[in-house]
Amino acid sequence: GRQFFVGGNFKMNGTISQIKEIVGHLNDAKCDSDVEVVISPPAIYLLLAREHLRKGIEVAAQNVFDKPNGAFTGEISVSQLKDSGITWTIVGHSERRTIIQEANHFVANKVKAALDGGLGVVLCCGETLEQRESNKTMDVVLAQLGAVAKEVKDWSKIVIAYEPVWAIGTGKVASNEQAQEVHHAIREWLGKDVSSEAANATRIIYGGSVSEKNCKDLAKQADIDGFLVGGASLKPAFVDIINARS
Ligand code: 13P
Repeated sequence: GRQFFVGGNFKMNGTISQIKEIVGHLNDAKCDSDVEVVISPPAIYLLLAREHLRKGIEVAAQNVFDKPNGAFTGEISVSQLKDSGITWTIVGHSERRTIIQEANHFVANKVKAALDGGLGVVLCCGETLEQRESNKTMDVVLAQLGAVAKEVKDWSKIVIAYEPVWAIGTGKVASNEQAQEVHHAIREWLGKDVSSEAANATRIIYGGSVSEKNCKDLAKQADIDGFLVGGASLKPAFVDIINARS
């Protein structure tokens, strides 16, 4: 079976004292030991989180650059993350795709650089409401993932996060059926365009208004292997989401 994976994406939220409080709460929490837990604070607090967090919980950057070093003002490299004890990065979050206008091929280059440098990658994909309503959901998702498949053959350190844009931060969670349908289609695509091992082993997690209330039923879906949590990851309820299957 695939190990359940729960990520907390703090986005551009938190202060030193709030990050310490969240980390302290996680350190003391009773988390199902079968669950892989990764938190992703803003870049300026990555080291702080890593210093205070107990072993067994990993830290992810929210973004990374695709070049190894040099004149790239404001960017952070894969090796700088590794040097700081940061073992994962989120790549291709919809807020970066839409607000910062990151293109599919740029996202793919970042995934390749991160994997080559030994980081795990939470690769985000998902459609807007307009795209869903014009029946383009799978075209959009598979174009996002397909750009990565062109660059990357080994998907063993990728976790795919399906995050429909219309569900992010809106309180409008995808239904169990809507999420399962897309997760299943992504798994079929992995089997066809990557490999049957990738189809079996790759965790496909759901993100978008996940709460302590809706997580248990979502977690029962056959192709949902965990969650990428935004707002609720800043609250004590995050622990209930980590323990959705227990
Ligand atoms: P919310 O859980 O706040 O909807 O955010 C989801 C998300 O974008 C996680 O990356």
